[in-house]
Order: sequence, then structure tokens, then C-alpha cells
Amino acid sequence: SASPVSARIQQLPAALANQIAAGEVVERPASVVKELVENALDAGATRIEVRVQQGGSTSIEVQDNGSGIHPDDLALAVLRHATSKISTAEQLAAIATLGFRGEALASIAAISRFSLSSSQTNDGLGYEVSIENNIDSDITTVTLDDALKYSDRIVPKPIAHARGSRVVVRDLFFNVPARRKFLKSVGTEYSHIEEVLKRMALVHFDVAFVLIHNDQKKLDLPIADSGELRLQRVRKILGARFADTAHWVDAESLDLRLAGWLGHPAEARGQPDLQYLYVNGRIVKDRSVSHALRMAYESVLHGHRHPAFLLFLELDPERVDVNVHPTKHEVRFVAQREVHEFVRHHAKKILAQFQTAPAELGDA
Ligand code: ADP
Ligand code: MG
Repeated sequence: SASPVSARIQQLPAALANQIAAGEVVERPASVVKELVENALDAGATRIEVRVQQGGSTSIEVQDNGSGIHPDDLALAVLRHATSKISTAEQLAAIATLGFRGEALASIAAISRFSLSSSQTNDGLGYEVSIENNIDSDITTVTLDDALKYSDRIVPKPIAHARGSRVVVRDLFFNVPARRKFLKSVGTEYSHIEEVLKRMALVHFDVAFVLIHNDQKKLDLPIADSGELRLQRVRKILGARFADTAHWVDAESLDLRLAGWLGHPAEARGQPDLQYLYVNGRIVKDRSVSHALRMAYESVLHGHRHPAFLLFLELDPERVDVNVHPTKHEVRFVAQREVHEFVRHHAKKILAQFQTAPAELGDA
């Protein structure tokens, strides 16, 4: 039996520290897809193609036509706490990008066979760095000092490449058997990936998305840069019943804006599975906003049904903290009550329109 540990303290080897940290952001293949697509969006891409094999367990490739990475920065990009997105505490307090922690690529590279290639030019020339195995992964070190010392060990090699970036992640968790064991079926892992893509597509209408699974095209969403095209995309992703019966909301106060679609009460569901809330373009789960919406729907919903909605809340980035959790699924509002009251009030006002004609949908 185990006795109390009496060994002396030592710092974890970098590769091990990275694997542990990776566990916070990378739960399954879909988490990798989320991080890589967020990077592509932050790079200003207008077309993002995601190719996965076997639910992402054997291969995930994300290609974008964004700004690309400077050849000298390729090695840095895969180091922990290395980011181009913020450099001061002031910027941390007003995040405008999806990423800012500088951890995703380092984490993913530590638990897969990884390569990153990129080009910032239109001459067809780019560079690639690969981190192919467990031994190499100790170059993704913990401190930036170490990082700079090691970064010349990752040597970018020239390759043919269109402007933009491409990340290839093979054999996710090959060196983390405990995690690999918990992967679900190909179908389940794939459906999580599809959900990630849909969530991104429902807020980034000015970006085209393509999703390919086992060489089959599953999603093909062209840029939706007009009101009609947006509605078409929403219809394609969330279904015609939701899109054609929901009510559009667009309300503004001095420092808050709520826009989007409030689902018809008759379209409420047994599960809260059609609830999309974005805060400053980032999908989140927020108790306070959920509660406000529940209150707004109270008088038009019957029983324990869950309303469907697709909502975009916008506010000054200084008024919301996105650095609550490594996965960034939660936010904290400085003025939580004000947000709650704003959402409740405006949602309720719109929903009152449903109250007068509750049977209308059944006739359609
Ligand atoms: P973060 O997104 O938090 O900055 P990441 O580890 O995801 O951290 O990425 C590290 C850096 O690599 C980014 O800050 C960015 O400069 C660069 N990068 C990653 N992916 C891309 C991409 N698809 N296009 C351009 N630059 C990228
Ligand atoms: Mg990132």
C-alpha cells in the first residue's frame, strides 16, 4: 500500500507539464478543431476548411486563407505562452480576439503528431515546422526563456504553400493512453466536431466553412454576407422550423446590444440543445443570461420545455472577463444585473407577440 510521499520536490519535465496542461484545453478531437478554427478566425480568414478522419482521432487538418505566420515566428507559435494577440495587462482586460492564452498550439503539439505550415505571401512559397514525436515535444517548454533557447531546434523547412496557414494533427493522444481510452465512437466524436463548426458558422457569417469527414463533404457553407443569405445559413444549420418561426430581436442600450432570433415557444424542446448564446462573438454558457431568458419565456412556455434561441450579445470588451476558464466557455460580466435585466426585458417584449397567437404554428 502507498505510504506518504517523502520524495524531494522537483519541477516537472516540460513534456509532462505540457501534457498535463493540454488536458485542460484538449478534451477530445472537437476541442482541437475549436482551437484551430479560432486561430484561423483570429487571422482574418474568409475561408476555413476542416478535414477529419475517423472522428478526428487519426487526423485533423485545418486550412485557412488568413494572414499567415512569419517564417521566423513558426517555431515560437508552438511554444507555450507565446501569442501575437496580447502583450500587456491592459490588452488582457479588453480581449478582442478569440485566442490570447498562447497555449493551444503548444498543448496540441504535445499530445499529437503535429505540423504547422504557413505563408504570408502570394508567391506560393511557405514554411513548415513539425513536431513528430514525444521526445521532440519537450521543446514546447514552460517558460519563454527556455522557449527561446530551444526554438532554434525547430527549423522551418520551405514548402509550396498558398497564403494562409495549415495545421495537421495526427494520432491525437497517441502518447496519453488515459485520454485516448476515453474517446467515444467515430460517430460521436464526429458529431462533436460538426457541432463546433456549426457554432462558429452561426456567428461568422462573413466566413466560408467546409467540413470533410472521411473524404465526404459534410458541410459546405458559402459566405453569407446579406440578410437573406444569413437566414439561409441559419435555416441550413438549425432547420427551417426554427428559422422560419423565430422572432428577430435587435435591441440596444447605451452599452449593450442584443440581436438574433428568439425561437417560437411552440418550437421549445425537451433538451436545451438549440440554445446558442454568443458574447462578443464567442459562444458561451452563462447562467445569468440563461436565467433571464427563462424568465422571459416563462409566461409563453408550458411545462419543462427549453426554448430555442440564437442570440448575440455585444458589449464593451472591458465590461466582460473572458479569462475565467481555459476553454473560455464562461464569461463574467462586470454589470451582471444590468445584463440580466436588459436581456429579460427585451426578450420578454418580443415574446409577448407570441402570446396573442399561440395556435398559429400548428396550422402551418
Ligand atoms: P493564441 O491563439 O492564444 O495566441 P495559439 O497557441 O492558439 O495561441 O497560437 C499561437 C500563435 O500562433 C497565435 O498568437 C498566432 O500568432 C499564431 N497562429 C496560430 N494559428 C494561426 C493561424 N491559423 N493563422 C495565423 N497565425 C496563427
Ligand atoms: Mg489560439
